[in-house]
Amino acid sequence: MSTPRETRFVPPIGGPMRELLRVAAPVDLGAIDPRSTPGLPEVAAGEHRKGWAREQVALLGAGLGRQQEMLYATAKAAQERPASAGRPAGSVLLVLQAMDCGGKDGTIKRVAGAMNPLGLHIRSFGPPTPEELRHDFLWRVRRALPPPGYAGIFNRSHYEDVLVARVASLVPEPVWQARYDEINDFERELTGAGVTLVKVLLHISYAEQGARLLERLDDPRKHWKYNPSDIDARARWDDYQAAYAEALSRCTTDAAPWFVVPADRKWYRDWAVAHLVRETFDTLALGYPAANFDLGRERERLRAGEAVAGGAGEMNSR
Ligand code: AMP
Ligand code: MG
Repeated sequence: MSTPRETRFVPPIGGPMRELLRVAAPVDLGAIDPRSTPGLPEVAAGEHRKGWAREQVALLGAGLGRQQEMLYATAKAAQERPASAGRPAGSVLLVLQAMDCGGKDGTIKRVAGAMNPLGLHIRSFGPPTPEELRHDFLWRVRRALPPPGYAGIFNRSHYEDVLVARVASLVPEPVWQARYDEINDFERELTGAGVTLVKVLLHISYAEQGARLLERLDDPRKHWKYNPSDIDARARWDDYQAAYAEALSRCTTDAAPWFVVPADRKWYRDWAVAHLVRETFDTLALGYPAANFDLGRERERLRAGEAVAGGAGEMNSR
């Protein structure tokens, strides 16, 4: 007899990741070791931990796929029967921020890649287009929000407007200073509309970024990812860390908390983010909506149809 395939993931130790990785204001990023591995269980020690983490992410992704389905089904039911819906139709939105080479793309590939692609809504934010610049900074973000029933992922986000916009002086200080409150108002509005936010900073070290940039330069297959301006941003490392610390401190709220994931180790990063997303889905206590049709009647109609088409069906099956 073969051993049953393991279907349960190993939970983090020391508490849920949402508690272990949640920031408290004032945030001191220097006190968080990018190589640390909060919550990692003992079973993941030693040589095998990379492979172990990969397997765990696959398990978590499969579980998330089931949660995604319930989220979608609930939203669909709410749209069809607005009056009878118990809870507001919602979505989950994972916001990923990081310095260049911080692993946003890799996290999406690994974590979203383990989830159900049908229910994903992934959007990336680059420098604003001329059209986007004609509107306020949240305009393009509103247009990118996941519809009810979807798990959204933001690869960069409205936080760039208090990060690069601040460090590179893209707007005058009073403009970016006002944005922290505008972001909090915006996120409160989203939460009220049923969007559950999980905001994650992938925290890498200066040394690790240097190594990853060099890897990009050394590999012709990675040149497309390299941008000479990455070095300019790297030269302003301390200013960016300060801007991140302030953004996290001023915009971590009970409704929309910030989490810092130590990200120098890619396998830990993916494992930690997968758990954060799973725990966020768990807070929604999802289930499947009741049928909005008469089951007995539908069974009856199906039987009646079979009786009429029975002869033809048999002939086709020969
Ligand atoms: P990447 O994520 O490597 O494709 O790079 C996207 C680039 O877009 C980064 O250099 C970001 O700093 C930049 N970016 C994203 N959002 C904004 C924004 N609101 N204002 C200015 N630059 C931005
Ligand atoms: Mg880049």
